[in-house]
Amino acid sequence: MSERPELALRAKELDAADELAPLRGRFVLDDVVYLDGNSLGALPVNVPDQVADVIRRQWGEQRIRSWEENGWWTAPERIGDRIAPLVGAAPGQIVVGDSTSVNVFKALVAAVRMAGDGRDELLVDATTFPTDGYIAESAARLTGRTLRPVTPADVPAALSERTAAVLLNHVDYRSGRLHDLPGLTAAVHARGALAVWDLCHSAGALPVGLDEHGVDLAVGCTYKYLNGGPGSPAYLYVRRDLQDRFDSPLPGWTSHAEPFAMSPAYAAAPGAVRGRVGTPDILSMLALEAALEAWDGVSVEAVRAKSLALTDFFLECVGAYTEPGRVECVTPAAHAERGSQIALRCPDAGEVMKRLIERGVVGDFRHPDVLRFGFTPLYVGFADTERAARVLGELLSR
Ligand SMILES: *Cc1c(COP(=O)(O)O)cnc(C)c1O
Repeated sequence: MSERPELALRAKELDAADELAPLRGRFVLDDVVYLDGNSLGALPVNVPDQVADVIRRQWGEQRIRSWEENGWWTAPERIGDRIAPLVGAAPGQIVVGDSTSVNVFKALVAAVRMAGDGRDELLVDATTFPTDGYIAESAARLTGRTLRPVTPADVPAALSERTAAVLLNHVDYRSGRLHDLPGLTAAVHARGALAVWDLCHSAGALPVGLDEHGVDLAVGCTYKYLNGGPGSPAYLYVRRDLQDRFDSPLPGWTSHAEPFAMSPAYAAAPGAVRGRVGTPDILSMLALEAALEAWDGVSVEAVRAKSLALTDFFLECVGAYTEPGRVECVTPAAHAERGSQIALRCPDAGEVMKRLIERGVVGDFRHPDVLRFGFTPLYVGFADTERAARVLGELLSR
């Protein structure tokens, strides 16, 4: 299908009126339409020089002194406090380190321990990103609880006085569906259980409101909408009033109240530090810290407004450029139920995505039949969006 001048014109007008458009200059981009920031965020321009400084000066010249003089030792809490406002948390509750998978394990086992002995069930989002489900199964086995997979909509009915904790994904990685964090957290609390949220697909894309909604524990990665780089460390949130009861299943020496006392007896540090395990991965951690500068002066509310405008416009363009029935949108139309991605189902999705990438539109494919398009409002614009839908329409009409 050929270009619709009215859509191309509107894209131009929307880009001209977009107050976040200048943020694109904070990233290294080319003429590819990059709609895979929900898998690996783009590189912020300041990261290479700052990482080079960490390696050449801090490591190369100052060596061991950098643990103190360059703030290496306190980086996990410092960077946690930098992420905190992006997910609606006051300082002192987030620690950065390890992978999301490891933090899911810490959070779940700690939640079960906090819930107490009388509660013998663990609920997990049946549609979860697989790693959360695998880890939950192991956490349940280790703690002697029964694991019950339930879809988020069925959680309220599945809760009982047997429920210890519930692990949920804020946004479904495949469909892009946004779950009701305030409502589900309240339902979990009404039954006396703990709510653990995985924010991998919401942090950096929409307001989360961890403190406001009384979330107990939360985890997330930093390489998707937070643009921290491949394998950048994840984070763990433990609500302040639960921190004294947070009994880590991985109580490594860096979570000790006095790590350099080298005591044979463990004594947990107060606060967020208690979520640490071993020596922090300084290179990727400081790359993440540099990457978070892309958020300076950016409001998450403005990001959310642009994200919804982008995904609305993409759906409109797909509707105009694609023959009816060729794709099925599996992302909810309602804004309250939509994250920052659009997932389209089509029978030959793997092949279609390969050809889209050849044509300079990068999304990704999720087994068996889903095309995923992630919209990172910091660097994706409306003309990009129109072009992606137009190329998709052309490929599908052959
Ligand atoms: C991306 C993602 C992960 C990734 O886990 P890692 O341990 O960082 O590999 C976990 N959970 C969800 C929901 C995700 O979207």
